[in-house]
Amino acid sequence: MTEIALDASLASARERLTRALDAAGRPHDDARLLAVSKTKPALMIRQAWQLGQREFGENYLQEALDKQTELADLDGIVWHFIGPLQSNKTRAVAKHFDWVHSVDRLKVAKRLSEQRPEALGPLNVCLQVNISREESKVGVMPEALGELAAAVAKLPRLRLRGLMAIPAPAETLDAQRKPLAALREAQETLKQVLPETLLDTLSMGMSDDLEAAILEGATLVRLGTAIFGARDPR
Ligand SMILES: *Cc1c(COP(=O)(O)O)cnc(C)c1O
Repeated sequence: MTEIALDASLASARERLTRALDAAGRPHDDARLLAVSKTKPALMIRQAWQLGQREFGENYLQEALDKQTELADLDGIVWHFIGPLQSNKTRAVAKHFDWVHSVDRLKVAKRLSEQRPEALGPLNVCLQVNISREESKVGVMPEALGELAAAVAKLPRLRLRGLMAIPAPAETLDAQRKPLAALREAQETLKQVLPETLLDTLSMGMSDDLEAAILEGATLVRLGTAIFGARDPR
């Protein structure tokens, strides 16, 4: 994608978010864009940064670390790890990211907390929920969420910010809204049982279901294709 095309697609993603917030009767600062840059070159991230985008989501650790090295001069850039997270990768993630959206096991959360460098603030985490109850999918099952959240909320070097989900694809707006509403309700329940925990983030909504996610209260929408164009197979 050329620089001019990125300029246009980022502008239209921002406009789409603003329109969705209007349609939901929510203020324009109620949700923000996470630019999902997996498989895209560091240069495109630099260009998006120059256009004012600050938060970027990456799925693959080594690819992300390489880009972070190349982009170390960009002030105020915020890195989110959103991909599946195995225990053997927690040390690097705890050191090189500001956020992790894909925590779904206590073991991984404990390691992230233990391995978060003292010099950095607490690591922001969202718990990934298998909201559509898909067999092969990562994410904690909804019935196990309460126990996991209570344990993660106690870890000293993590700050539990909310929930994340990747619902099964659905065709209509109503069908898209169902699992997103379930995630919002799960977050509301957690807020009641964990009143001391911040829980200000609902990470949901991608290029195909942004509008549904905003209607259901998303605060951080993760857009890849809509900003950077289609991804090549990896
Ligand atoms: C790739 C990815 C996205 C972005 O998906 P698009 O459909 O390209 O917007 C969002 N969230 C996660 C977890 C992803 O892996």
